[in-house]
Amino acid sequence: MTAFLSVRDLSVRFATEDGVVRAVDGLSFDVERGRTLGIVGESGSGKSVTNLSVLGLHDPRTTEIEGRILLDGQDLTTAPESVLEKLRGNRMAMIFQDSLTALSPYYTVGRQIAEPFRKHTGASRREARLRAIEMLRKVGIPNPALRVDDYPHQFSGGMRQRAMIAMALVCDPELLIADEPTTALDVTVQAQILDLLKDLQQQTGSAIVLITHDLGVVAGTADDVLVMYAGRAVERGTAREVLRSPRHPYTWGLLGSMPRLTSPVDEPLTPIPGSPPSLLDPPPGCPFHPRCAYVDRVGGDRCRTERPEPPEGRGAACHLPDGAGRGRTR
Ligand code: SF4
Ligand code: MG
Repeated sequence: MTAFLSVRDLSVRFATEDGVVRAVDGLSFDVERGRTLGIVGESGSGKSVTNLSVLGLHDPRTTEIEGRILLDGQDLTTAPESVLEKLRGNRMAMIFQDSLTALSPYYTVGRQIAEPFRKHTGASRREARLRAIEMLRKVGIPNPALRVDDYPHQFSGGMRQRAMIAMALVCDPELLIADEPTTALDVTVQAQILDLLKDLQQQTGSAIVLITHDLGVVAGTADDVLVMYAGRAVERGTAREVLRSPRHPYTWGLLGSMPRLTSPVDEPLTPIPGSPPSLLDPPPGCPFHPRCAYVDRVGGDRCRTERPEPPEGRGAACHLPDGAGRGRTR
């Protein structure tokens, strides 16, 4: 049986003025119904690009996609735009980081929630409005029958994020892609929104891809984790495995730089030195080697010359022996 979303050997290249950017390189992952995959990495790691490709929202004039993206067995990489349009907002939907840019200031919140419902179900205006009220109630907006006619600026940031979730879920999508859905919110509202997503998932059984730079967000939300660096998978496993016994030096760094609610506020964080490589001209060997403190633990020049294999199942793309990182998280 194949997973509901199955991405196989995906490569995404952009033509830019400076040359070809390899934003995603040989990436594979699966998401089952009812499960959440957290895709984690710094900005520029390819996580957003991957998911825009899944939704077919890339610019076909400048973007070249290779590999397969199977949604319930149907290959989206070869599907015509008319097919993708029927799927988007219907069987697959996306929640963006910034509700102010995703919601139009000129239309009421209710109308924006109702619109995809009318488009995909052919419901009447009245039915769609009732559906919008029901969705606002579902995502925890008080007095939804009154708030349905508000404009986005009349909502708080947390409420707008809820409204955006209502808009994404209005057609009961089987796949939900949430790109940094809580980054702009304070910690308390963040936790509420993540809880809401989990509750809604329990009701609908949808598959969720949660994109984040923050391992703290995946800790309580994701079942499985894929860590990306420079357009590639560098570690994968269940959330428990990756958080408890991370195997890739990049993941160690991410965990080292994750503020923990239980630790004293003034505990120094240890961010990863350096920055992600240019994808115009990625470094040879392991793409993480210019930033890795363990380069010389691996024999010879392997890290600088030999690209580690991407992990299949539980594992890491690293030449260090498995288990070398036990207890390396703090
Ligand atoms: Fe570091 Fe080498 Fe592992 Fe890359 S392969 S993460 S450079 S130890
Ligand atoms: Mg992004």
